[in-house]
Amino acid sequence: MNASGLSPEQLKLQARARELAAGPVAERAAEVDRTEQYPWDNVELLKDARLIGMTIPQQYGGQGKGWLDAVLAIEALSSACAVTGRIAVETNMGAISAVMAYGSEEQKKLAADMVLAGDKPAICITEPEAGSDAGGMTTRADKKGNRYVLNGRKHWITGGGVSRLHLIFAKVFDEQGNEEGIGGFLAIRDETKGLKITKREPTMGLRGIPEAVIDFEDMDVPPSSLVIPPRGLKKGFADLMNAYNSQRVGAATVALGIAEGAYQLALDWSEKRRQFGRPINEFQGLQWKLADMSIKLVAAQALVYNAARSGEGGFPDMLLAAQAKVFTSESAIQVVNEALQFFGARGYSRELPLERMARDVRMFTIGGGTAEVLRNVVAGALLKKKLPQTRDGWSKADGG
Ligand SMILES: Cc1cc2nc3c(=O)[nH]c(=O)nc-3n(C[C@H](O)[C@H](O)[C@H](O)COP(=O)(O)OP(=O)(O)OC[C@H]3O[C@@H](n4cnc5c(N)ncnc54)[C@H](O)[C@@H]3O)c2cc1C
Repeated sequence: MNASGLSPEQLKLQARARELAAGPVAERAAEVDRTEQYPWDNVELLKDARLIGMTIPQQYGGQGKGWLDAVLAIEALSSACAVTGRIAVETNMGAISAVMAYGSEEQKKLAADMVLAGDKPAICITEPEAGSDAGGMTTRADKKGNRYVLNGRKHWITGGGVSRLHLIFAKVFDEQGNEEGIGGFLAIRDETKGLKITKREPTMGLRGIPEAVIDFEDMDVPPSSLVIPPRGLKKGFADLMNAYNSQRVGAATVALGIAEGAYQLALDWSEKRRQFGRPINEFQGLQWKLADMSIKLVAAQALVYNAARSGEGGFPDMLLAAQAKVFTSESAIQVVNEALQFFGARGYSRELPLERMARDVRMFTIGGGTAEVLRNVVAGALLKKKLPQTRDGWSKADGG
């Protein structure tokens, strides 16, 4: 350990990721944004640098590393290219970590092999009529003999069209049509019939990863594709949401990385740019901006690292992950916005990365649980109360 609290191995990992970020990842970032093409070249770079599948246990071919290790890599990569940072999130956290925690041996091997070969799994929860209220999903999985048949629509699925492995949430019904709860099913694009990518969303930022609408039309899968066995279905959603706490920390880390990248650009520029015969960082108005930006970044980094550390041997703590994501995503938007301001008109140009960073960072108060919904999570934990948001829920809480 050293003053930063990072071990020598973690410092090495961080240095490896920073080198990659400053080199080829930074060079390609603008092109990835402009062409809106998934950066397969960067996937190869991540594989070679062993930054993919790091959290997968060694017995499945991974490195058995912790969440903080993944965070260090994601933070460095995101400072240069948020899309590449997100690929590192989803190949170390989220769907892959849910399968590694709750899946069968067969599922773990399948998912680990696919991720280590470069696949970024997709997690399919959100529907057109069920966003923050994910429990209101209508995608259903009907048991028919020795199969489950899935029907429904998901949207805003990250990686739709490039991801092969999909973890799909659906309401499960037995043969008599009784609802058993929400379960997660594995399917593979181009292998599992009935999984169709039907639209790519035209997004504001993070354009190198497609966000897609996916339709399930009589998608027929065996019971072995269920990530949690039927007896666990009632608490299946809660278990899988627990795994999502890692993804939340990952999303917060991408926002942090983008903001750190933007801050560094502003800091450097403030020394180079001269107006009124002096570097602009000699104006106290800008000095205080730099001070506020650095305070936000240091605080956000502490929250993110702390949330990551809370997950050792399991998943990050729900409260710490929610607090980290709310604070970091909102602070990152402010920091990037201020950084752009340092550049005056240049900041508004597509020739500099600031405008891309401003578009990219805007996402993180929305995806993976909005800042409002995560505040509900924080409040619920502080008050030690379930805070149901539905009308029915409120009347029950009132004793009605
Ligand atoms: C780039 C991107 C990538 C995404 N990737 C994925 C993915 O891979 N897989 C996936 O399943 N989903 C994904 N999503 C979807 C994301 O999780 C949802 O957008 C999010 O959960 C919010 O749902 P919604 O968009 O339907 O908003 P809504 O739920 O309609 O919310 C609208 C507004 O109301 C607020 N609101 C809603 N309920 C409450 C409440 N109880 N209290 C206070 N405010 C409330 C929200 O905060 C928001 O401001 C992604 C979204 C984006 C933008």
